[in-house]
Amino acid sequence: MTTAAETRLEELEAKGEEEEEEKKESVALLEQDIECPRCHDSMALCSDFDSLYYTCEECDFTLYTIKR
Ligand SMILES: [Zn+2]
Repeated sequence: MTTAAETRLEELEAKGEEEEEEKKESVALLEQDIECPRCHDSMALCSDFDSLYYTCEECDFTLYTIKR
């Protein structure tokens, strides 16, 4: 026999696993080449101290990623 509290805990654990998978996906996305929103050329990933950003050599467009 399962109590209501045990059932709720299982639901929370399942939800936590889903959130972790989403984080992995966003990290994988960060490593891929992305297209420049201005000229549609490929942008290069650069790092400067503690920040990561993409730069486009064609039009000098810079796209910063979110700092952790
Ligand atoms: Zn560009």
